[in-house]
Amino acid sequence: MGTEPQYPGPVGRVGPYRTVCLSKIIDPATETRRCVVKRHKTVVQGVEDWHSDVDIVTHLGTHVEAPFHHGDLQKDVTALPPHHYVGRGVLMKLHTCKPRALITRADLEAADADRILAGDIAILDSPYHSEPFVVSPDDKRPHLSREAAEWFLEKKIKAVGFGDGICVETNIEHCLACHDILLGNDILIIEVMQNLDKLEHDVFLVVLMPLPIRGLDSSPVNVMAIEGIPGFTD
Ligand SMILES: [Zn+2]
Repeated sequence: MGTEPQYPGPVGRVGPYRTVCLSKIIDPATETRRCVVKRHKTVVQGVEDWHSDVDIVTHLGTHVEAPFHHGDLQKDVTALPPHHYVGRGVLMKLHTCKPRALITRADLEAADADRILAGDIAILDSPYHSEPFVVSPDDKRPHLSREAAEWFLEKKIKAVGFGDGICVETNIEHCLACHDILLGNDILIIEVMQNLDKLEHDVFLVVLMPLPIRGLDSSPVNVMAIEGIPGFTD
């Protein structure tokens, strides 16, 4: 007889390094996006045990979007090399942007302070938090813009991520421009990140491997930040 599991928190330690899980834990019982898990008995080589059938949308919880998500772009999550999903993460706290405003080049430069390098994964946050994809009169999140996407392209980063501090979904023109510019240049988009407030450093190693399944336009990811690794710290 099994006992109920005790679920751990997002912060941990591996050897000398502090770890923070930056993903939302999905509970199929309460999740609003498509997520059905059916556990069933199975017999493998004479041993009766459990398997599960899983029916999910690829944009479930914290997810990484590949070019195949947008327009005529063709690269799915397996068409980029595995190391594209591992990098030096830089947390950019946008402290100059105005409520509901488009994020400007000046906002990014103030938050960056010359830290971002080619190949990095930029993770954005702002002082304004609101649940993504939920319409709220109190939603003051700044919006990702064409200008911001162009700045990321110039910086040659390989992914940009954010949680509930950044909006990408209410301004259609700028949402489309960001998808064109970012995904059109293999700059991945990581949405619905969590626990950014649990980070103790602004620079860390970040790992966000997608499910290794061909044809996925996007994949849920369990994002791990590892703090303190030489060469990946501030
Ligand atoms: Zn998405």
